[in-house]
Parts: sequence; structure tokens; C-alpha cells
Amino acid sequence: TQRFIWPMAQFGQIINMYQRAYASSARMFGLMDEPSRIEEDPGAEELVVGDGRVEYDDVTFGYDEDETIVEDISFEVPGGDTLALVGPTGAGKSTVLKLLLRMYDVDEGAVRIDGTDVRDVTIPSLRQAIGYVGQDTFMFYGTVEENIRYGSFDADHEDVVEAAKAAEAHDFIRNLPEGYDTEIGERGVKLSGGQRQRLSIARAVLRDPDILILDEATSDVDTETEMLIQRSLDRLTEDRTTFSIAHRLSTIKDADKIVVLEDGRIVERGTHEELIGEDGLYAHLWGVQAGEIDELPDEFVERASR
Ligand code: ADP
Repeated sequence: TQRFIWPMAQFGQIINMYQRAYASSARMFGLMDEPSRIEEDPGAEELVVGDGRVEYDDVTFGYDEDETIVEDISFEVPGGDTLALVGPTGAGKSTVLKLLLRMYDVDEGAVRIDGTDVRDVTIPSLRQAIGYVGQDTFMFYGTVEENIRYGSFDADHEDVVEAAKAAEAHDFIRNLPEGYDTEIGERGVKLSGGQRQRLSIARAVLRDPDILILDEATSDVDTETEMLIQRSLDRLTEDRTTFSIAHRLSTIKDADKIVVLEDGRIVERGTHEELIGEDGLYAHLWGVQAGEIDELPDEFVERASR
């Protein structure tokens, strides 16, 4: 079968297994270049996820001691719900999620999964529980199949195909010169943004993480592709605790809760309907994106560009 065709590749996979499990979600999150300062507690236990409830309890954090980046962040995401983080670039959305992956430790407060502080669990078990789909998804030079399988050590070819189908990627993969064996990357086929995105969804479907971070790309895709992507994402996020960083607000309208960040603080929270009813940043951002108002009123522009 498939797996004996490239014994060397297979061997490489085995020796890298521990290393990969350890680094996978951090790498997917595009964070490999960031030096990690955290240390695992000697008494750390494996994280066992139940419902997947996530809680931020008065979290404050700064990359440098003298500069606070996020402050007094508190919210709770019931298991299976979707929380969307919205706010201008630099508001702290990614930083908030780096604390969940424990790329950094909070300065004050705590981040808990099902009541367990992320500082009390082993780092590989934490990172293994969290999947990432987004524009910075890590792809390597290899076949389509190897890229989908990345991080799922037990998956066989059938599993990969099932995942690709769920991600609405199967049809385009079949049409590639060598199907699932097509090499991608510099020496192989160049994939479009929409195709890469669907491969990253297939990878997440296969890994089946308890918690998902969704960093939605603004890549140029046609309406039909966008529909396919949306459908596969709905499937992926259903009944799974999901954090969504949205760039286009239309994609997070149905989130169970939206948290609006500005300058490292939560300035608004609620459902789409609730926030639209307020006269705040969200309502104005929505107005601009929906074409109802031409531009963000000065007071918001000034605040956002501080
Ligand atoms: P967002 O995701 O909302 O665009 P970020 O969380 O990426 O915001 O950034 C919040 C702030 O933290 C920004 O001012 C950014 O420059 C700063 N920042 C992000 N990453 C680092 C880092 N590794 N070291 C120092 N500062 C950082």
C-alpha cells in the first residue's frame, strides 16, 4: 500500500514524531520563530479535555515587563461554542490565543481548559489538543497526502481521503496531475490560496482537535470556493470549541459570542445582534463592511490607529 512506497520518508517521519507533536500547533500558528520562555512544571500532567470549556480569568500579559499588551481579559467559552475575536490590527487578538497555546505565560490571572490551568499540564498534550486553521498554516515540500496527514500519525490513506472530502478538497486534489501523490511547494504544483486553505481544513479534520483556532484568511477566492470553504468550516467547528479571528465580519455573524478588543482590552461583547444594536466599534465596523456607511467615523479611526 501507499505507506511502503517511500521508506525513507517514512523513517524521517518516525524520528521526527515526538518533535512534531511537540511543535505542531505552535508551528501551524506561525510562531516557530518566537523564542519560548515557558517551562513545564515537573509535576505537569497530561491534559484530558472533557467538554472543552475555556476560561480566561482576569488575564494580563506583556511581551516585555514594562509594556502591557492585553489587560483584564475575562471570558468563558462553553464547550463546543464559538467565540469570535474582533478588533483592529494590533489590538491583541493573536496574543490572547498565544496564551491559550502557552507560547507565553500570563503575568496575572489564568487561562483554564475544563477548569485546569494550562500551566499545570504537559506542553505536548496541550498543543495536541488545539488545532489551527488559517493563513499562516504551515505547508512543507511533500505530497498533498503528506501535508494533510501532518500531525496525525495513525491516519491511513482512507482517513486522508475522508478528511479531504469533508474539507471539500477531494475534487480538486483528484484533478491534480498525480492526485494525492502530487508534490506541492517550490518543486511541485503551486496551490491557490483557496486550495491551501482547504488542505489546512482537511488536516484539522484529520487531527480532530478538541479546540480549534480559526484565523480566517482574506485570500482572494471566488464565490463558489468561498461557499465550499464556509461549508467545510461549519462542519469542522460544529460541536467543537472554536476561537475565530475574523477579518471579514460576515463570517462570524453566527458566533455564539463576539468579543471586541481594542488596545488590549475588551471594549464590547455579545452576539452579533446585540452588538449591532449598540452604537460602538463593532456596529461601525459592520456598517463599513456592509457598505452601509462609507467610512469609519473619525473617533473610531483615531482610536484604532493609536
Ligand atoms: P492582533 O492579532 O489583534 O493584530 P497582536 O496580538 O498580534 O494583535 O499584537 C498586539 C500587540 O503586541 C501589537 O502591538 C504587537 O506589535 C505586539 N506584539 C505581537 N507579537 C509580539 C512579540 N512577539 N514581541 C513583542 N511584541 C509583540
